[in-house]
Amino acid sequence: MKYNHEDCLALLEDIMWSGTPQCPYCQSTNSTAIKKEHRYHCNACFNSYSVTVGSLFHKTRVDLQKWFLAIQLILNSQEGISGRQLAKKIGVNRNTAAYMIARIRKAMLEDYKLIQKIMQIDLRE
Ligand SMILES: [Zn+2]
Repeated sequence: MKYNHEDCLALLEDIMWSGTPQCPYCQSTNSTAIKKEHRYHCNACFNSYSVTVGSLFHKTRVDLQKWFLAIQLILNSQEGISGRQLAKKIGVNRNTAAYMIARIRKAMLEDYKLIQKIMQIDLRE
């Protein structure tokens, strides 16, 4: 795969925050980076967070690059893509693929800007 988990988090941080981490709980940008991979401590509400909190990627066990790829495959396919097709293409099981499709469809309605930006990530090897 082209990007590891940390690369993907860095890409998402650029897309969603334009470089300044913002707390998903209180919207404060007053944060301290936690040395552990791409997590931040909010100095206003004292929660800690990463860029995926509250997004369609929250608490996923699927590689973020597979999510990005799934989004691109779904939006680029004329006739739509079935769970079975997606499962095969990105190497997840069918239940996971169906779950991803449902989440991505929801995000297309709720956060189309994010989806559009993910469409621009170059995933070619
Ligand atoms: Zn906060």
